[in-house]
Amino acid sequence: MASVYFTPGPAQLYPTVAGHLQNALDQQVFSQSHRSQAFKDLYKRADAGLRALFQLPADYSIYFTGSATEIWERSLQSLTAQNTYHLVNGSFSKKYLDHAKWLDRNAQVLQVPFGQGFSLEDVQVPDGTELLAITQNETSSGVCMPVEDIHALRQRYPEPLISVDIVSGAPYAALDFSQIDMAFFSVQKGFGLPAGLGVWLVNERSRQKAASLEGKQYTGGHHSLASLQDQYQQFQTPSTPNVLDIYLLAHVVEDMLAKGVDVIRQETEAKAQQLYAFLEESSLFAPFVQEKRHQSPTVVVADVLDRPAAEIISILKKQGFVVGSGYGAFKDKQIRIANFPAILGRQVDDLVQALKRL
Ligand SMILES: *Cc1c(COP(=O)(O)O)cnc(C)c1O
Repeated sequence: MASVYFTPGPAQLYPTVAGHLQNALDQQVFSQSHRSQAFKDLYKRADAGLRALFQLPADYSIYFTGSATEIWERSLQSLTAQNTYHLVNGSFSKKYLDHAKWLDRNAQVLQVPFGQGFSLEDVQVPDGTELLAITQNETSSGVCMPVEDIHALRQRYPEPLISVDIVSGAPYAALDFSQIDMAFFSVQKGFGLPAGLGVWLVNERSRQKAASLEGKQYTGGHHSLASLQDQYQQFQTPSTPNVLDIYLLAHVVEDMLAKGVDVIRQETEAKAQQLYAFLEESSLFAPFVQEKRHQSPTVVVADVLDRPAAEIISILKKQGFVVGSGYGAFKDKQIRIANFPAILGRQVDDLVQALKRL
């Protein structure tokens, strides 16, 4: 029997992926030119689906890149000359900061310990900040930032562009995109697709900022915001894109819309509640994130008490449950359980039963 992947990326594939993949093969989609009308129609279809899923304001553009990692770099190159401010509470938010330093930006940071979230009163964004970088769901530690807190930062700081990494929070996180300026994700987490595609959602204000920097500095080459936008106007891409993933994304997003994003959110919360309730009562596990409002519904991280995490992971694996190890220094002490939309309620039931038997 096939295993269920509760890993936080790559993750369990969305249940409809296999059927869509077979259809694409039957239609020879992956041999079609990326300059053809068929590709433009596919891009347009993905664009329409994502707009509906995220309730995007009309001024947003949607670009495709190689990964979310690429968007860390491209967003900093295209949207900043000097001053950035980063909320850092784990490995992924830290990498966004690292990219700013590599690019010689004056990168300011509010850093809190692994496993903690941010109190809004501690966030002090200096005047002149061009980009405020937020990681909505820190995949390494299982800490989320409630979307209300992100919206509150917009009210407090109207000036800087607000960039939100939603890689492991989307499509669950109900962000109001009129309260931010750009967001991005890669598809192998919450969308349950094969890795290798980044999706960058960008508003008009960001495009204006990019235009003001064009010609004054390096703004990101073939994937500069300007060149992506130029191609996007014809539903084209600067280079040959990952058509396989774009095809699967367009179709899976339509499946998610047919199901209803509200239903997906309710199911995510119900499954998360079940997992956290188990961790609370268990004598072998404990939730790593203490503060309830910062406990991620989409990536649940558990401390393993008195036994090596590797032993737990190996026993579960033999039973067909693949859970993630702890991140970095927490590898031996924690497990991470992804609760993405691809994971069904009964699969969480089965996992909890297996955890109880340990
Ligand atoms: C996985 C992840 C990334 C990086 O995604 P890639 O597809 O590997 O570039 C960035 N941010 C977060 C929060 C992630 O979980």
